[in-house]
Amino acid sequence: MTVGMEQDLLKREIRFLKGVGEKRAECYARLGITDVYSLLRHYPRDYIDYSAPAAIIDAVPGETWVVKARVFKKGREQRIRKGLSLFKIFVTDDTADLTVTIFNARFAAEALKEGESYFFYGKVTGNLLRREMNSPQILRVVPGAAMQPVYPLTEGLTNKMICTNMEQALFLLEGWRGEPLPLEIRKRYRLCGLTEAFHNIHFPPSHLAQEEAKRRLAFEEFLTLQLGMSQLKRRGRRETSVLIPAPDFSPLFSSLPFELTGAQKRCIAEGLEDFKSGFPMNRLLQGDVGSGKTMVAAALIYAAWRVGYQSVLMAPTELLAKQHAETLSALLSPLGCKTVLLTGSMTAKQKAEAREALASGSVPLAVGTHALLQESTAFRNLGFVVTDEQHRFGVAQRAKLVRKGEHPHVLVMSATPIPRTLALMIYGDLDISVLDELPKGRKPVETYRIGESKRERAYRFIAKQLDAGRQAFLICPLIEENEELRLSSVEEYRKKVERDYLPGYVVGVLHGRQKPAEKQKVMEDFASGRLQALIATTVVEVGIDVPNASVMLIENAERFGLSQLHQLRGRVGRGAEQSFCILVSSHRGEENRRRLEAMCRTSDGFVIAEEDLKLRGPGDFFGERQHGLPRLKIADLVQDTRLLTQARELAEELLSNDPQLSAPEHHGLRQLVRELFRQAPEGGSC
Ligand code: ADP
Ligand code: MG
Repeated sequence: MTVGMEQDLLKREIRFLKGVGEKRAECYARLGITDVYSLLRHYPRDYIDYSAPAAIIDAVPGETWVVKARVFKKGREQRIRKGLSLFKIFVTDDTADLTVTIFNARFAAEALKEGESYFFYGKVTGNLLRREMNSPQILRVVPGAAMQPVYPLTEGLTNKMICTNMEQALFLLEGWRGEPLPLEIRKRYRLCGLTEAFHNIHFPPSHLAQEEAKRRLAFEEFLTLQLGMSQLKRRGRRETSVLIPAPDFSPLFSSLPFELTGAQKRCIAEGLEDFKSGFPMNRLLQGDVGSGKTMVAAALIYAAWRVGYQSVLMAPTELLAKQHAETLSALLSPLGCKTVLLTGSMTAKQKAEAREALASGSVPLAVGTHALLQESTAFRNLGFVVTDEQHRFGVAQRAKLVRKGEHPHVLVMSATPIPRTLALMIYGDLDISVLDELPKGRKPVETYRIGESKRERAYRFIAKQLDAGRQAFLICPLIEENEELRLSSVEEYRKKVERDYLPGYVVGVLHGRQKPAEKQKVMEDFASGRLQALIATTVVEVGIDVPNASVMLIENAERFGLSQLHQLRGRVGRGAEQSFCILVSSHRGEENRRRLEAMCRTSDGFVIAEEDLKLRGPGDFFGERQHGLPRLKIADLVQDTRLLTQARELAEELLSNDPQLSAPEHHGLRQLVRELFRQAPEGGSC
C-alpha cells in the first residue's frame, strides 16, 4: 500500500508545490507539466558548470565565463533615467579584478555581502586591463552542487523558479520506490536507479554523475520507444489470404541486358518469403541511387501478376511516375503484363479509362501519383502495393492505398540511404531490405569543389564533354515557394549560360512551375539528346534517368543538404562513361567546407547520410515529423547509437517472453510505454 501512496505523491498536481499558484501552474501546463512526476521529467537542456571557474585573468573578453570572486567594494545605486538604475559591484579573485554591473535589481545587489565569495556567470566585456560583466547570473558558493541546470522555459517561468520547485520535487522522492526498470536489467547494463538519476540530472554534483544519470534516462527512453514500436508491429500483424509463390523468373530475367546484383537477388528473395508467409509484407527497400530498386519491384510485381494479383506503384512526382511507368512497361508488357498510368495532369477521359481498366482487372499494374489515392480509384484484386518515396508519403497516405486491397503486401522504396540504426527507429513497423551493392562497372562520379572564380574553367570543361557527345545538368538552387524570384533568376541564368558559358550549344530549362506537359517535353528532349545541357532546379532530384549525361554542375552548392546533393549527383554516373560533378560554392563556412568535402571524398550514400546526420541532426534530416515517432526528451539518436542497439535487443528479449508486459516486474515499463505513446501523433503501423 505504501507504494501506492508514494506514487500518489508524485501524481500530485503541480500546485501542491510551495509557491505554485494558479498562474504558475498555467505556465507549467504550457510545458506539459501538470504534476510532480512530469516536473521531474522536465530535464535541463544545458548546465552552467561551476565546478571549474576560470581565473579572472584568463577570462578573455567577448566570451561567456564562470568566475568565482570575492566582493571587495559595492557602489551606490546610480539612477540613469526614470526606470533605469544600476549598481556597480567590484569583485576579485586575486588574479585580477572584475566590475560587475547589475541593472534595476536593488534587491539582488543588496543581497551581496562585502568579503563574501560568489559565482558570477556571464559574458565578459571591456578589455584585458579592465574587465566587466553586465547582469551576470550570481550564485552563492554552496558545497556540493557543481553544475546549475538550465531548463527549457516559457513566458512567466524563470529558471530560478523551476530550480526551486525542482528541489521540492526531489525532496518528495525520498523513500519513493517507483523504479520502472527491473533490478536484473539495471545490473546487466550497469544503470543507476531512477531516484538517483533524477537527483543527478537536475543538480549534478559532478560531470560523471550527470553522465551516468543521462545514460540511465536515455536507455530507459530508448527501451520504452522500442517496446512500444515492437508492440505496434506485433499488433499490426494480421493474416492475409494473398499468397504468392515464387514464379519461374526466366522469361523476365533472360530479357535483361545485365545480370542482377547479389543484393538485388537477396532483396527479391526476402520479398518472396513475405509473399508466401500468409502475413502481409511490410518492407522497406533501401538502396542508394542507381542500386536498381526498380528491378526488385518489377520482379515482385511479375510474381504477383503470374498468379493473378494486381499491383500498384505510387511515386511522389508526375515525372517520376511517368518514368517508372515506362521502365516497368518496357520490362513487363512484352511478357503480357500491361501497365496503366494515372496522374493528375491526365484528361478526365484518360483518367476514367485508366480507372475502368483497374476496376475491371483488365490491367494488372497501375503506376501513378497521388491521383491513385482518390476514392474513385478501385482495383479488382490488389495484391501488392509499392511506394517510391523519400519521406514524402505519410503513414496515412500509404494506409489509404493499402485499403484498396484486402491486406495486400506493401513495399516501401526509399532512395535516401538512412543509417541502419535510424531506419530501424523510423520505420520500426517495417522489415528492412538493403541494396548495398551497385551494379557492376559503375564508376564513382568524380566530384570537385570550386569557388566562383573557377566557374568559367568549369564551363570550358563542360563544353568539351558536350563536344564529345555527352550531356550536362546545370543545377540552380532556387526556392520553390518564391516563384517570382525563382523564375527571373532561372531565365537570367539561362541567358548567361547561352551567351557567355555555352554559346552555340542547345540548352533547355526545367523547373517546378512549368506545366506538366512542358516539363515532359523538356525531359524527353533531354533524354533523346536534342538538348545538350539542361538547366534545372531540384525537380531532377528524384529518379530521372539519362545515362548519357556525364557531368553535373551545381551552383550555390552550400544551399543543399548533403543527402540532397547526393540525390542530385545520382543523376549522373548512370552510363558507362566516367562522370563528373562540380560543386560551385564561394561560401567560406567551416561546416560548409566539411560537407562539400565529404561529397568529394565518398560516393557511398550511407556514409554521406551518417555525415549529414552528424552535421544537421535527425530533425533536419527527416524534415517534417511525418514518421509518427514520439519526441525524445533526452536520448540522442545520433550520439547514443550503442545504447539504442542495446535497448532494441533488450526490448525484443522482453517481449518474446512477455508480449503484453503483464508480469508484475514489467508494470513500470508498461506504464512508461503508455505515457510515451499517448503523446505520439499516430501509431507507426499501416
Ligand atoms: P534506383 O531506383 O535504385 O535509383 P534504378 O532501378 O532506377 O535504380 O536503376 C538504375 C539503372 O541501373 C537503370 O538504368 C537500370 O536499368 C540499371 N540496372 C538495374 N539493375 C542493374 C544491374 N544488376 N546491372 C546493371 N544495371 C542495372
Ligand atoms: Mg529509381
